[in-house]
Amino acid sequence: MSSRPTTQRGSIIDGTGVADRIGKLSDSLIDFIIRFCAIESVNPPGRNYLNACEFLAAKLKSLGLATRIVRVPAAEQARIVPGMDDCPRYCVVARWDVGAPRTLHLTGHYDVVPATNGWKSDPFKAFVRGGKLIGRGTADMKGSDSAAIFAVQALRQAGVTPPWNVELSFTPDEETGGAAGLGWLVRSGTIAPDAAILCEGASGDKVGYAHRGVLWADVTVLGKSGHACNPKNGINALEKAMPLIARFKTLERVYAGRRTRFNIRQRHPTLMIGSVSGGGGKVNTIPDRFHFTIDRRLNPEDKVADVKRELIEQVRLACRRDPQLKVKVDWPLYVPPGWIEPDAPMARLALSALKSLRRGPVRFSMTAGFTDMHFLTADGGVPTVMYGVEGAGAHSDFEYVKLPELIAAVRFYAEMMLRVGAG
Ligand SMILES: [Zn+2]
Repeated sequence: MSSRPTTQRGSIIDGTGVADRIGKLSDSLIDFIIRFCAIESVNPPGRNYLNACEFLAAKLKSLGLATRIVRVPAAEQARIVPGMDDCPRYCVVARWDVGAPRTLHLTGHYDVVPATNGWKSDPFKAFVRGGKLIGRGTADMKGSDSAAIFAVQALRQAGVTPPWNVELSFTPDEETGGAAGLGWLVRSGTIAPDAAILCEGASGDKVGYAHRGVLWADVTVLGKSGHACNPKNGINALEKAMPLIARFKTLERVYAGRRTRFNIRQRHPTLMIGSVSGGGGKVNTIPDRFHFTIDRRLNPEDKVADVKRELIEQVRLACRRDPQLKVKVDWPLYVPPGWIEPDAPMARLALSALKSLRRGPVRFSMTAGFTDMHFLTADGGVPTVMYGVEGAGAHSDFEYVKLPELIAAVRFYAEMMLRVGAG
């Protein structure tokens, strides 16, 4: 990236015929998304991945992009998502090489979560009603995937060449962590761009510049079984766990004083105890184990080693008070936070691009849930921003994108392709 931010005030696409092209493409874009959503690329377990990739690859090839479908090596897949041999993982990578030394990458995931039970229509038959495109995957995130592709189409049809090469990737498995999707693409060096847009994580008047990380702890308290008619005959693991849980809860007060500098409604890190919990086996038996989970969300300022140490310290203090307390802690998941500094050239570029396209004020935002951004920023060192089509109801019974925002996202991607590197 150029170290200087762009000074362009008005949008570039409006002056080049690209905006007109985008307007004319809107019907075929909607039609494309409806056909894309009909491919039930549901994860878990990871069905119809090849069908989804072939659908995208055919479109990208028709635009003249050098396109390939790459399979995540079976051994890699088995390591990351064991037992899924009958659902191979594939990514699509397409490149518009303009001969520039640098490359802007746009990426999105094509997997969707399974249909929930309350849908009033067939979730995989997307349709338009009241200015919305409704269906599973429209908001999360086939609408945004498609918007990125149609931005390329608009540029090519308008005969406008971007200053950097444009590369697109579409990946599986984001809904289950992304390690066998975008994570693999970055780790394997299959992509190594100079800057990237992750096509979800913020929308509307907001540019995404960060997401929280997460650490999961599995806490097991061990007791000793015995007949329930004589509680003194054993060690009740649930009762032993109670003071420990109370100690963990005190951390919330500590966290309340730690506010991130990134824009988000709730600025302090969060703790959720017991989303999965239980133990014992029979009503008339003293429970010899009690298990509960901890979901700890990390701000970019948090260091995972410190977070773990703080949790373990609570265990240590509880054990000191109660010599009978036996605790085992495992760490089944850690996803680091992803972020870009707001004064980084890519972040400033994205904000000024969005500003040139929208009427009101624009701003940066951090999302509380995690996205695939960290693979690019933490693993790949790629300056990345997040932007997708505004909608609602991801993972719910009524998922949609707003049609005007669909076009707004195409315009943003096209604007970014033309502005990147400007200075
Ligand atoms: Zn998503």
